[in-house]
Amino acid sequence: MNPQDPWRLNADLHCHSSISDGTLAPEAVVARAHEKGVQLLSLTDHDELAGQARAQAKARELGLPYVAGVEISITWAGETIHVVGLDVDPNNPELIDGVARTRDGREERAKEMAEQLRAVGIEGAYEGALRYVGNPELISRTHFARFLVETGVCADVSEVFQRYLSEGKPGFVPHRWARLGQALSWISIAGGVAVLAHPGRYRLDDTALWALISEFREAGGTGIEVVCGSHTRDQYARFAGLAREFGLRASRGSDFHGPGESHVELGQLPPLPDSVVPVWYDWALARQ
Ligand code: AMP
Ligand code: MN
Ligand code: MN
Ligand code: MN
Repeated sequence: MNPQDPWRLNADLHCHSSISDGTLAPEAVVARAHEKGVQLLSLTDHDELAGQARAQAKARELGLPYVAGVEISITWAGETIHVVGLDVDPNNPELIDGVARTRDGREERAKEMAEQLRAVGIEGAYEGALRYVGNPELISRTHFARFLVETGVCADVSEVFQRYLSEGKPGFVPHRWARLGQALSWISIAGGVAVLAHPGRYRLDDTALWALISEFREAGGTGIEVVCGSHTRDQYARFAGLAREFGLRASRGSDFHGPGESHVELGQLPPLPDSVVPVWYDWALARQ
């Protein structure tokens, strides 16, 4: 046993496969993470655990420490917020059922999105988006974005979100996801820890963000993402400060969705600041 310094461990605890809106199969995500020097990995597909056994098997084959994960969509104060569940039992029936109910309604939402896009002159978006879907139960805005890029409507995925798929834009359909308390209880029943995903990305002012983090902590949340694919360096410092203030642990994750699409590669982010405690600090797997 050669105990690692937990602060220097190359942990990537947030990424996606084709089981949700990533482009690589679960095995390929794990193999790539291994190649890129990741030392502790979690695949965290949106509202879906179907990739976990495959990811786990590949990680075992490569000798890469792995914890099962999931990114659950919730609605809080009218905003969509994401909570990552880490080191969960992917076979836990309550968690499986909870995320299945959270997935429910995506198909209907997608059809409404396509209707709205048709109204602004974009035909066939539902069928088009479906061509990119790896899991019929998980059609997401990302799949629409890929279709609109492929057909030349927009130059890249972020332009699609800006022009069509964010709130107030012609292809945006509001959706009610899980409640914060539900998501946290499913994660906890499945033996995992809850981490607030990319807190810098929400359209919340300081007061609302403070309320969200308080409520998250009260409901049993363990950590927040500090170093992640959507944060700037200033935000690393800001969220490290909030983690300390709230007594929460810190997580690190690229939110990788696929080569060429994600701006952050697996395992390439800077380490966590020394001032916070890594969420994996006392995990046996992180000390092998
Ligand atoms: P959905 O769960 O269907 O609402 O889709 C949400 C997903 O869309 C997120 O997980 C991201 O992968 C992607 N996404 C959201 N906003 C953006 C953006 N501005 N640029 C690129 N991808 C985005
Ligand atoms: Mn995504
Ligand atoms: Mn997210
Ligand atoms: Mn994500």
